Amino acid sequence: MFEKILVANRGEIALRVIRACKELGVRTLAVYSEADVDSLHVQLADEAICIGAPPSTESYLKVDRIMSAAEVGDVDAIHPGYGFLAENAHFAEVCDSCKIKFIGPTASAMHAMGDKNSAREFARKAGVAVTPGSDGIVADEQEALKVARKVGYPVMIKAVAGGGGRGMRAAHNDASLGSAFQNARMEAEKAFGNGDVYIEKLIVNPHHIEFQIMADQHGHVVHLGERDCSIQRRNQKVIEESPSPLMTPALRKKMGNAAVKLAESVGYQNAGTMEFLVDNDGNYYFIEMNTRIQVEHTITEEVYGCDLVKEQIKIAAGEKLSPHVANAVPRSHAIQCRINAEDPEKNFQPVPGRISFYYAPGGRGVRIDSHAYTGYVVPPYYDSMIAKLITVGATRTSTIDRMRRALDEYYITGIKTTVPFHSAIMRNADFRNGKYDTGFVERIMNSNTLELRPAATQLHD
Ligand code: ADP
Ligand code: ADP
Ligand code: MG
Repeated sequence: MFEKILVANRGEIALRVIRACKELGVRTLAVYSEADVDSLHVQLADEAICIGAPPSTESYLKVDRIMSAAEVGDVDAIHPGYGFLAENAHFAEVCDSCKIKFIGPTASAMHAMGDKNSAREFARKAGVAVTPGSDGIVADEQEALKVARKVGYPVMIKAVAGGGGRGMRAAHNDASLGSAFQNARMEAEKAFGNGDVYIEKLIVNPHHIEFQIMADQHGHVVHLGERDCSIQRRNQKVIEESPSPLMTPALRKKMGNAAVKLAESVGYQNAGTMEFLVDNDGNYYFIEMNTRIQVEHTITEEVYGCDLVKEQIKIAAGEKLSPHVANAVPRSHAIQCRINAEDPEKNFQPVPGRISFYYAPGGRGVRIDSHAYTGYVVPPYYDSMIAKLITVGATRTSTIDRMRRALDEYYITGIKTTVPFHSAIMRNADFRNGKYDTGFVERIMNSNTLELRPAATQLHD
Protein backbone atom coordinates (compact mmCIF):
# COMPACT_ATOMS: atom_id res chain seq x y z
CA MET A 1 0.00 0.00 0.00
CA PHE A 2 1.05 3.61 -0.57
CA GLU A 3 2.51 5.63 2.28
CA LYS A 4 1.38 9.10 1.23
CA ILE A 5 -1.07 10.32 -1.40
CA LEU A 6 -1.33 13.82 -2.86
CA VAL A 7 -4.94 14.83 -3.43
CA ALA A 8 -4.95 17.01 -6.56
CA ASN A 9 -8.39 18.53 -6.04
CA ARG A 10 -10.56 20.63 -3.72
CA GLY A 11 -14.05 20.65 -2.23
CA GLU A 12 -16.07 17.59 -1.34
CA ILE A 13 -14.14 15.17 -3.56
CA ALA A 14 -10.83 16.11 -1.92
CA LEU A 15 -12.45 15.31 1.44
CA ARG A 16 -13.85 12.08 0.05
CA VAL A 17 -10.36 10.93 -0.96
CA ILE A 18 -8.77 12.07 2.32
CA ARG A 19 -11.38 10.10 4.28
CA ALA A 20 -10.67 6.96 2.24
CA CYS A 21 -6.92 7.40 2.83
CA LYS A 22 -7.39 7.81 6.58
CA GLU A 23 -9.35 4.57 6.74
CA LEU A 24 -6.61 2.80 4.77
CA GLY A 25 -3.91 4.22 7.06
CA VAL A 26 -2.36 6.27 4.24
CA ARG A 27 -1.01 9.80 4.90
CA THR A 28 -2.40 12.65 2.82
CA LEU A 29 -1.01 15.82 1.26
CA ALA A 30 -3.55 18.45 0.23
CA VAL A 31 -2.80 21.14 -2.33
CA TYR A 32 -4.81 24.35 -2.32
CA SER A 33 -5.21 27.73 -3.95
CA GLU A 34 -5.08 31.00 -2.02
CA ALA A 35 -8.91 31.03 -2.10
CA ASP A 36 -9.07 27.69 -0.26
CA VAL A 37 -6.86 28.42 2.78
CA ASP A 38 -9.82 27.82 5.11
CA SER A 39 -11.16 24.84 3.23
CA LEU A 40 -11.88 21.61 5.08
CA HIS A 41 -9.66 19.55 2.79
CA VAL A 42 -6.70 21.66 3.93
CA GLN A 43 -7.63 21.22 7.57
CA LEU A 44 -8.28 17.48 7.44
CA ALA A 45 -5.22 16.44 5.42
CA ASP A 46 -2.01 15.52 7.26
CA GLU A 47 -0.08 18.15 5.29
CA ALA A 48 -0.99 20.93 2.88
CA ILE A 49 0.88 23.01 0.31
CA CYS A 50 -0.40 26.18 -1.37
CA ILE A 51 0.03 25.95 -5.15
CA GLY A 52 -1.07 29.35 -6.37
CA ALA A 53 -3.65 32.04 -6.99
CA PRO A 54 -7.44 31.41 -6.88
CA PRO A 55 -8.19 30.85 -10.60
CA SER A 56 -7.83 27.13 -11.32
CA THR A 57 -5.56 27.89 -14.29
CA GLU A 58 -3.14 29.32 -11.69
CA SER A 59 -3.43 26.45 -9.21
CA TYR A 60 -5.46 23.25 -9.56
CA LEU A 61 -4.67 22.99 -13.28
CA LYS A 62 -0.95 23.78 -12.93
CA VAL A 63 0.80 20.46 -13.53
CA ASP A 64 4.29 21.78 -12.67
CA ARG A 65 3.19 23.21 -9.30
CA ILE A 66 1.37 20.02 -8.35
CA MET A 67 4.40 17.93 -9.31
CA SER A 68 6.67 20.22 -7.25
CA ALA A 69 4.36 19.73 -4.27
CA ALA A 70 4.50 15.97 -4.88
CA GLU A 71 8.32 16.05 -4.86
CA VAL A 72 8.54 18.26 -1.76
CA GLY A 73 5.95 16.12 0.04
CA ASP A 74 7.61 12.89 -1.15
CA VAL A 75 4.32 11.21 -2.03
CA ASP A 76 4.07 7.89 -3.84
CA ALA A 77 0.71 8.45 -5.54
CA ILE A 78 -1.69 11.18 -6.71
CA HIS A 79 -5.48 11.01 -6.68
CA PRO A 80 -6.97 13.49 -9.18
CA GLY A 81 -10.65 13.36 -8.07
CA TYR A 82 -13.02 14.56 -10.84
CA GLY A 83 -12.76 17.67 -13.02
CA PHE A 84 -9.46 19.63 -13.14
CA LEU A 85 -6.68 17.20 -14.21
CA ALA A 86 -8.63 13.96 -13.72
CA GLU A 87 -8.99 13.27 -17.44
CA ASN A 88 -5.76 14.84 -18.58
CA ALA A 89 -3.62 12.08 -20.14
CA HIS A 90 -0.58 14.36 -20.20
CA PHE A 91 -0.80 14.71 -16.41
CA ALA A 92 -0.94 10.91 -16.04
CA GLU A 93 2.17 10.67 -18.26
CA VAL A 94 4.03 13.24 -16.16
CA CYS A 95 3.17 11.25 -13.02
CA ASP A 96 4.52 8.10 -14.69
CA SER A 97 7.78 9.77 -15.65
CA CYS A 98 8.20 11.02 -12.06
CA LYS A 99 7.57 7.48 -10.75
CA ILE A 100 4.47 8.64 -8.91
CA LYS A 101 1.41 6.43 -9.32
CA PHE A 102 -1.56 8.19 -10.95
CA ILE A 103 -4.66 6.72 -9.30
CA GLY A 104 -6.70 6.10 -12.42
CA PRO A 105 -6.41 4.43 -15.80
CA THR A 106 -3.23 4.36 -17.89
CA ALA A 107 -2.47 7.40 -20.06
CA SER A 108 -3.09 5.31 -23.17
CA ALA A 109 -6.57 4.26 -22.02
CA MET A 110 -7.28 7.93 -21.26
CA HIS A 111 -6.16 8.87 -24.77
CA ALA A 112 -8.40 6.19 -26.26
CA MET A 113 -11.55 6.94 -24.25
CA GLY A 114 -11.08 10.55 -23.13
CA ASP A 115 -11.80 12.04 -26.53
CA LYS A 116 -15.46 11.44 -27.40
CA ASN A 117 -14.83 10.86 -31.07
CA SER A 118 -12.12 8.31 -30.39
CA ALA A 119 -14.30 6.61 -27.73
CA ARG A 120 -17.06 6.21 -30.34
CA GLU A 121 -14.53 4.50 -32.63
CA PHE A 122 -13.53 2.04 -29.93
CA ALA A 123 -17.19 1.37 -29.10
CA ARG A 124 -17.97 0.62 -32.75
CA LYS A 125 -14.97 -1.71 -32.91
CA ALA A 126 -16.12 -3.50 -29.75
CA GLY A 127 -19.57 -3.96 -31.29
CA VAL A 128 -21.30 -1.56 -28.89
CA ALA A 129 -24.05 0.60 -30.40
CA VAL A 130 -23.27 4.34 -30.53
CA THR A 131 -25.61 7.21 -31.38
CA PRO A 132 -25.82 7.41 -35.20
CA GLY A 133 -23.72 10.29 -36.49
CA SER A 134 -20.58 11.46 -38.27
CA ASP A 135 -17.68 9.09 -38.83
CA GLY A 136 -15.30 11.51 -37.18
CA ILE A 137 -14.55 15.17 -36.68
CA VAL A 138 -16.64 17.47 -38.85
CA ALA A 139 -14.38 20.14 -40.36
CA ASP A 140 -16.73 22.88 -41.56
CA GLU A 141 -20.33 23.99 -41.97
CA GLN A 142 -20.66 22.42 -45.42
CA GLU A 143 -19.64 19.00 -44.19
CA ALA A 144 -21.89 19.49 -41.15
CA LEU A 145 -24.84 20.12 -43.47
CA LYS A 146 -24.13 16.94 -45.43
CA VAL A 147 -23.81 14.81 -42.31
CA ALA A 148 -26.92 16.30 -40.66
CA ARG A 149 -29.06 15.59 -43.75
CA LYS A 150 -27.74 12.05 -43.92
CA VAL A 151 -28.25 11.36 -40.20
CA GLY A 152 -31.60 13.18 -40.20
CA TYR A 153 -32.69 16.07 -37.96
CA PRO A 154 -32.69 16.80 -35.10
CA VAL A 155 -28.95 16.49 -34.51
CA MET A 156 -26.53 17.37 -31.71
CA ILE A 157 -23.19 19.02 -32.48
CA LYS A 158 -20.72 17.99 -29.78
CA ALA A 159 -17.18 18.88 -28.78
CA VAL A 160 -14.80 15.91 -28.81
CA ALA A 161 -13.25 17.33 -25.61
CA GLY A 162 -16.61 18.22 -24.03
CA GLY A 163 -17.51 17.86 -20.38
CA GLY A 164 -19.89 19.34 -17.82
CA GLY A 165 -22.57 19.80 -20.50
CA ARG A 166 -20.54 22.40 -22.40
CA GLY A 167 -19.64 22.54 -26.09
CA MET A 168 -22.92 20.98 -27.20
CA ARG A 169 -25.67 22.45 -29.43
CA ALA A 170 -28.85 20.98 -30.92
CA ALA A 171 -29.97 21.79 -34.48
CA HIS A 172 -33.45 21.01 -35.80
CA ASN A 173 -33.08 22.04 -39.44
CA ASP A 174 -30.68 23.36 -42.08
CA ALA A 175 -31.43 26.94 -41.06
CA SER A 176 -30.26 26.52 -37.46
CA LEU A 177 -27.34 24.18 -38.23
CA GLY A 178 -24.79 26.84 -39.16
CA SER A 179 -25.05 28.87 -35.99
CA ALA A 180 -25.27 25.72 -33.82
CA PHE A 181 -22.06 24.45 -35.45
CA GLN A 182 -20.20 27.74 -34.90
CA ASN A 183 -21.48 28.15 -31.33
CA ALA A 184 -20.48 24.61 -30.34
CA ARG A 185 -17.03 25.18 -31.84
CA MET A 186 -16.53 28.52 -30.10
CA GLU A 187 -17.69 27.30 -26.70
CA ALA A 188 -15.47 24.21 -26.98
CA GLU A 189 -12.44 26.26 -28.00
CA LYS A 190 -12.96 28.57 -25.03
CA ALA A 191 -13.72 25.87 -22.44
CA PHE A 192 -11.36 23.09 -23.53
CA GLY A 193 -8.81 24.76 -25.83
CA ASN A 194 -9.96 22.37 -28.55
CA GLY A 195 -12.71 23.38 -30.97
CA ASP A 196 -13.09 20.01 -32.74
CA VAL A 197 -16.71 18.87 -32.99
CA TYR A 198 -18.64 15.91 -34.38
CA ILE A 199 -22.33 15.26 -35.04
CA GLU A 200 -24.73 12.82 -33.40
CA LYS A 201 -28.39 12.16 -33.95
CA LEU A 202 -30.32 13.89 -31.18
CA ILE A 203 -32.21 11.25 -29.23
CA VAL A 204 -35.51 12.84 -28.20
CA ASN A 205 -36.24 12.74 -24.45
CA PRO A 206 -34.04 9.76 -23.60
CA HIS A 207 -32.88 8.49 -20.24
CA HIS A 208 -29.22 9.04 -19.38
CA ILE A 209 -28.12 5.70 -17.97
CA GLU A 210 -24.51 4.98 -17.09
CA PHE A 211 -22.67 1.90 -15.90
CA GLN A 212 -20.00 1.89 -13.21
CA ILE A 213 -16.91 -0.08 -14.20
CA MET A 214 -14.20 -1.29 -11.83
CA ALA A 215 -11.11 -3.01 -13.25
CA ASP A 216 -7.91 -4.13 -11.58
CA GLN A 217 -4.43 -4.44 -13.08
CA HIS A 218 -4.82 -8.22 -13.41
CA GLY A 219 -7.43 -8.25 -16.15
CA HIS A 220 -10.59 -8.43 -14.01
CA VAL A 221 -13.32 -6.07 -15.18
CA VAL A 222 -16.75 -5.86 -13.50
CA HIS A 223 -19.70 -3.50 -13.62
CA LEU A 224 -21.64 -2.31 -10.59
CA GLY A 225 -24.95 -1.67 -12.26
CA GLU A 226 -26.43 1.54 -13.50
CA ARG A 227 -27.22 5.06 -12.41
CA ASP A 228 -30.05 7.03 -13.94
CA CYS A 229 -28.89 10.65 -14.37
CA SER A 230 -31.76 11.97 -16.48
CA ILE A 231 -32.67 14.78 -14.08
CA GLN A 232 -30.48 17.42 -15.71
CA ARG A 233 -30.34 21.16 -16.25
CA ARG A 234 -28.54 22.31 -19.37
CA ASN A 235 -27.21 18.79 -19.94
CA GLN A 236 -25.70 18.74 -16.44
CA LYS A 237 -26.79 16.23 -13.84
CA VAL A 238 -28.65 17.49 -10.76
CA ILE A 239 -30.22 14.32 -9.32
CA GLU A 240 -29.05 10.75 -9.79
CA GLU A 241 -30.56 7.46 -8.71
CA SER A 242 -29.77 3.78 -8.72
CA PRO A 243 -31.32 1.52 -9.85
CA SER A 244 -33.00 3.28 -12.77
CA PRO A 245 -36.81 3.16 -12.77
CA LEU A 246 -36.55 2.24 -16.45
CA MET A 247 -34.25 -0.74 -15.97
CA THR A 248 -35.18 -4.39 -16.36
CA PRO A 249 -32.93 -7.30 -15.42
CA ALA A 250 -32.60 -8.23 -19.10
CA LEU A 251 -31.60 -4.72 -20.19
CA ARG A 252 -29.16 -4.44 -17.27
CA LYS A 253 -27.50 -7.62 -18.37
CA LYS A 254 -27.20 -6.48 -21.98
CA MET A 255 -25.94 -2.98 -21.20
CA GLY A 256 -23.65 -4.18 -18.40
CA ASN A 257 -22.06 -6.73 -20.72
CA ALA A 258 -21.56 -4.07 -23.39
CA ALA A 259 -19.93 -1.73 -20.85
CA VAL A 260 -17.57 -4.46 -19.61
CA LYS A 261 -16.69 -5.56 -23.15
CA LEU A 262 -15.81 -2.00 -24.15
CA ALA A 263 -13.66 -1.50 -21.03
CA GLU A 264 -11.86 -4.78 -21.72
CA SER A 265 -11.24 -3.83 -25.34
CA VAL A 266 -9.10 -0.84 -24.30
CA GLY A 267 -7.37 -2.61 -21.39
CA TYR A 268 -9.11 -0.32 -18.94
CA GLN A 269 -7.94 -0.19 -15.32
CA ASN A 270 -9.39 1.45 -12.22
CA ALA A 271 -12.80 3.20 -11.95
CA GLY A 272 -14.63 4.41 -15.04
CA THR A 273 -18.13 5.07 -16.30
CA MET A 274 -19.77 4.19 -19.60
CA GLU A 275 -22.55 6.65 -20.40
CA PHE A 276 -25.50 5.69 -22.61
CA LEU A 277 -28.71 7.26 -23.83
CA VAL A 278 -31.70 4.93 -23.71
CA ASP A 279 -34.91 5.58 -25.60
CA ASN A 280 -38.42 4.51 -24.58
CA ASP A 281 -38.16 1.28 -26.56
CA GLY A 282 -35.11 0.18 -24.60
CA ASN A 283 -32.64 0.93 -27.43
CA TYR A 284 -29.37 2.08 -25.94
CA TYR A 285 -26.55 4.10 -27.45
CA PHE A 286 -23.09 4.65 -25.98
CA ILE A 287 -22.26 8.39 -25.78
CA GLU A 288 -19.03 8.71 -23.79
CA MET A 289 -16.77 7.30 -21.13
CA ASN A 290 -15.62 9.21 -18.07
CA THR A 291 -12.19 7.86 -17.18
CA ARG A 292 -12.32 8.80 -13.49
CA ILE A 293 -14.41 8.59 -10.34
CA GLN A 294 -17.70 10.42 -10.82
CA VAL A 295 -19.63 12.90 -8.72
CA GLU A 296 -22.45 10.36 -8.37
CA HIS A 297 -20.29 7.31 -7.45
CA THR A 298 -21.87 7.60 -3.98
CA ILE A 299 -25.20 6.04 -4.94
CA THR A 300 -23.49 2.99 -6.42
CA GLU A 301 -21.53 2.63 -3.16
CA GLU A 302 -24.74 2.68 -1.15
CA VAL A 303 -26.63 0.27 -3.42
CA TYR A 304 -23.75 -2.21 -3.80
CA GLY A 305 -22.21 -1.82 -0.33
CA CYS A 306 -18.65 -0.93 -1.25
CA ASP A 307 -16.19 1.96 -1.10
CA LEU A 308 -15.19 2.82 -4.65
CA VAL A 309 -12.51 5.35 -3.69
CA LYS A 310 -10.73 2.89 -1.38
CA GLU A 311 -11.04 0.33 -4.15
CA GLN A 312 -9.46 2.79 -6.63
CA ILE A 313 -6.49 3.22 -4.30
CA LYS A 314 -6.10 -0.53 -3.71
CA ILE A 315 -6.28 -1.21 -7.45
CA ALA A 316 -3.63 1.43 -8.13
CA ALA A 317 -1.43 -0.21 -5.48
CA GLY A 318 -1.63 -3.44 -7.48
CA GLU A 319 -4.20 -5.33 -5.44
CA LYS A 320 -6.78 -7.59 -7.04
CA LEU A 321 -10.43 -6.49 -7.05
CA SER A 322 -11.83 -7.09 -3.56
CA PRO A 323 -14.17 -10.10 -3.55
CA HIS A 324 -17.06 -8.04 -2.14
CA VAL A 325 -16.68 -5.65 -5.10
CA ALA A 326 -16.13 -8.34 -7.71
CA ASN A 327 -19.26 -10.17 -6.52
CA ALA A 328 -21.35 -7.18 -5.45
CA VAL A 329 -25.12 -7.35 -5.91
CA PRO A 330 -27.61 -4.48 -5.62
CA ARG A 331 -29.35 -4.52 -2.26
CA SER A 332 -31.13 -1.18 -1.92
CA HIS A 333 -32.16 2.04 -3.64
CA ALA A 334 -30.19 5.31 -3.46
CA ILE A 335 -30.73 8.88 -4.66
CA GLN A 336 -28.31 11.80 -4.72
CA CYS A 337 -29.20 15.50 -4.88
CA ARG A 338 -26.43 17.90 -5.84
CA ILE A 339 -26.76 20.91 -3.53
CA ASN A 340 -25.39 23.96 -5.34
CA ALA A 341 -24.77 27.51 -4.16
CA GLU A 342 -27.21 28.81 -6.76
CA ASP A 343 -30.47 30.74 -6.63
CA PRO A 344 -33.23 28.60 -8.17
CA GLU A 345 -35.49 31.65 -8.31
CA LYS A 346 -32.97 33.58 -10.38
CA ASN A 347 -32.32 31.07 -13.12
CA PHE A 348 -29.83 29.14 -10.96
CA GLN A 349 -27.36 31.99 -10.93
CA PRO A 350 -24.32 31.07 -8.79
CA VAL A 351 -24.33 32.84 -5.40
CA PRO A 352 -20.93 32.60 -3.74
CA GLY A 353 -20.60 34.05 -0.24
CA ARG A 354 -20.43 33.25 3.45
CA ILE A 355 -22.54 30.48 4.96
CA SER A 356 -23.76 32.11 8.17
CA PHE A 357 -25.26 28.93 9.63
CA TYR A 358 -25.01 25.33 8.48
CA TYR A 359 -26.92 22.39 9.87
CA ALA A 360 -26.95 19.12 7.93
CA PRO A 361 -29.61 16.42 8.17
CA GLY A 362 -28.84 13.02 9.65
CA GLY A 363 -30.62 9.93 10.83
CA ARG A 364 -31.09 6.59 9.22
CA GLY A 365 -30.14 6.20 5.57
CA VAL A 366 -28.78 9.72 5.12
CA ARG A 367 -25.28 10.47 3.82
CA ILE A 368 -23.70 13.86 3.23
CA ASP A 369 -20.48 14.45 1.32
CA SER A 370 -19.66 18.11 1.79
CA HIS A 371 -16.91 20.56 2.61
CA ALA A 372 -19.37 23.17 3.87
CA TYR A 373 -19.62 24.38 7.49
CA THR A 374 -20.84 27.41 9.44
CA GLY A 375 -18.63 30.35 8.49
CA TYR A 376 -17.34 28.76 5.27
CA VAL A 377 -17.05 31.21 2.39
CA VAL A 378 -18.04 29.70 -0.97
CA PRO A 379 -15.46 31.13 -3.39
CA PRO A 380 -16.63 32.41 -6.78
CA TYR A 381 -13.86 30.70 -8.75
CA TYR A 382 -14.99 27.09 -8.89
CA ASP A 383 -17.93 24.76 -9.38
CA SER A 384 -20.96 25.84 -7.34
CA MET A 385 -21.62 22.42 -5.79
CA ILE A 386 -21.29 22.63 -2.00
CA ALA A 387 -22.75 19.29 -0.93
CA LYS A 388 -24.10 15.97 -2.07
CA LEU A 389 -27.07 14.66 -0.13
CA ILE A 390 -27.63 10.93 -0.54
CA THR A 391 -30.45 8.86 0.88
CA VAL A 392 -30.71 5.09 0.90
CA GLY A 393 -33.78 2.93 1.36
CA ALA A 394 -35.24 -0.47 0.69
CA THR A 395 -37.54 0.82 -2.05
CA ARG A 396 -37.61 3.74 -4.45
CA THR A 397 -40.58 5.32 -2.66
CA SER A 398 -39.05 5.11 0.80
CA THR A 399 -35.80 6.57 -0.57
CA ILE A 400 -37.68 9.53 -2.08
CA ASP A 401 -39.61 10.09 1.17
CA ARG A 402 -36.36 9.96 3.12
CA MET A 403 -34.83 12.52 0.73
CA ARG A 404 -37.85 14.79 1.17
CA ARG A 405 -37.48 14.51 4.94
CA ALA A 406 -33.70 15.13 4.83
CA LEU A 407 -34.07 18.18 2.57
CA ASP A 408 -36.61 19.63 5.01
CA GLU A 409 -33.98 19.33 7.76
CA TYR A 410 -31.19 20.90 5.72
CA TYR A 411 -30.54 24.37 7.07
CA ILE A 412 -28.13 26.64 5.20
CA THR A 413 -28.35 30.41 5.67
CA GLY A 414 -26.34 33.31 4.28
CA ILE A 415 -26.42 32.04 0.71
CA LYS A 416 -29.13 30.65 -1.55
CA THR A 417 -28.97 26.96 -2.40
CA THR A 418 -30.82 24.49 -4.60
CA VAL A 419 -32.37 22.74 -1.57
CA PRO A 420 -35.89 24.15 -2.31
CA PHE A 421 -35.61 23.00 -5.92
CA HIS A 422 -34.78 19.43 -4.89
CA SER A 423 -37.57 19.57 -2.31
CA ALA A 424 -40.07 20.42 -5.03
CA ILE A 425 -38.89 17.61 -7.28
CA MET A 426 -39.22 15.03 -4.47
CA ARG A 427 -42.89 16.10 -4.26
CA ASN A 428 -43.50 16.05 -8.01
CA ALA A 429 -45.96 13.31 -9.01
CA ASP A 430 -44.21 12.42 -12.28
CA PHE A 431 -40.86 12.09 -10.57
CA ARG A 432 -42.40 9.99 -7.85
CA ASN A 433 -43.93 7.72 -10.47
CA GLY A 434 -40.58 7.33 -12.22
CA LYS A 435 -41.92 9.17 -15.25
CA TYR A 436 -39.04 11.36 -16.31
CA ASP A 437 -36.38 11.75 -18.97
CA THR A 438 -33.63 14.25 -19.78
CA GLY A 439 -36.28 16.85 -20.75
CA PHE A 440 -38.02 16.67 -17.34
CA VAL A 441 -36.48 19.70 -15.60
CA GLU A 442 -36.97 22.02 -18.58
CA ARG A 443 -40.58 20.93 -18.93
CA ILE A 444 -41.48 21.55 -15.29
CA MET A 445 -39.60 24.86 -15.24
CA ASN A 446 -41.49 26.02 -18.36
CA SER A 447 -44.86 24.89 -17.06
CA ASN A 448 -44.32 26.80 -13.80
CA THR A 449 -45.70 23.89 -11.81
CA LEU A 450 -42.62 23.68 -9.64
CA GLU A 451 -43.41 25.10 -6.23
CA LEU A 452 -40.16 26.09 -4.61
CA ARG A 453 -40.53 25.51 -0.90
CA PRO A 454 -38.67 27.57 1.63
CA ALA A 455 -35.88 25.45 3.11
CA ALA A 456 -35.84 24.24 6.74
CA THR A 457 -38.82 25.72 8.50
CA GLN A 458 -38.06 24.00 11.81
CA LEU A 459 -34.96 26.00 12.72
CA HIS A 460 -34.74 29.72 13.29
CA ASP A 461 -31.83 32.15 13.31
P1 ADP B 1 -20.09 13.69 -13.51
O1 ADP B 1 -20.87 14.72 -12.80
O2 ADP B 1 -20.92 12.68 -14.16
O3 ADP B 1 -18.96 13.15 -12.73
P2 ADP B 1 -19.48 15.89 -15.15
O4 ADP B 1 -19.33 15.86 -16.63
O5 ADP B 1 -20.64 16.62 -14.59
O6 ADP B 1 -19.44 14.40 -14.74
O7 ADP B 1 -18.13 16.47 -14.55
C1 ADP B 1 -17.78 16.51 -13.17
C2 ADP B 1 -16.93 17.71 -12.93
O8 ADP B 1 -15.86 17.74 -13.83
C3 ADP B 1 -17.69 19.00 -13.11
O9 ADP B 1 -17.20 19.91 -12.18
C4 ADP B 1 -17.33 19.41 -14.53
O10 ADP B 1 -17.43 20.79 -14.68
C5 ADP B 1 -15.91 18.91 -14.62
N1 ADP B 1 -15.52 18.50 -15.97
C6 ADP B 1 -15.96 17.45 -16.66
N2 ADP B 1 -15.35 17.34 -17.85
C7 ADP B 1 -14.49 18.36 -17.94
C8 ADP B 1 -13.56 18.79 -18.92
N3 ADP B 1 -13.40 18.15 -20.08
N4 ADP B 1 -12.83 19.89 -18.67
C9 ADP B 1 -12.98 20.55 -17.51
N5 ADP B 1 -13.84 20.18 -16.54
C10 ADP B 1 -14.58 19.10 -16.73
P1 ADP C 1 -20.67 15.74 -21.11
O1 ADP C 1 -19.30 15.33 -21.45
O2 ADP C 1 -20.85 17.20 -21.07
O3 ADP C 1 -21.16 15.02 -19.91
P2 ADP C 1 -22.37 13.94 -22.68
O4 ADP C 1 -22.02 13.47 -24.03
O5 ADP C 1 -22.20 12.98 -21.58
O6 ADP C 1 -21.54 15.28 -22.39
O7 ADP C 1 -23.86 14.48 -22.68
C1 ADP C 1 -24.41 15.12 -21.56
C2 ADP C 1 -25.93 15.14 -21.71
O8 ADP C 1 -26.32 15.86 -22.88
C3 ADP C 1 -26.58 13.78 -21.85
O9 ADP C 1 -26.79 13.14 -20.62
C4 ADP C 1 -27.87 14.13 -22.55
O10 ADP C 1 -28.83 14.65 -21.66
C5 ADP C 1 -27.44 15.24 -23.50
N1 ADP C 1 -27.06 14.67 -24.80
C6 ADP C 1 -25.81 14.43 -25.24
N2 ADP C 1 -25.82 13.89 -26.48
C7 ADP C 1 -27.11 13.77 -26.82
C8 ADP C 1 -27.81 13.26 -27.98
N3 ADP C 1 -27.16 12.78 -29.03
N4 ADP C 1 -29.18 13.30 -27.96
C9 ADP C 1 -29.85 13.78 -26.91
N5 ADP C 1 -29.27 14.26 -25.81
C10 ADP C 1 -27.92 14.27 -25.76
MG1 MG D 1 -21.31 12.92 -19.74
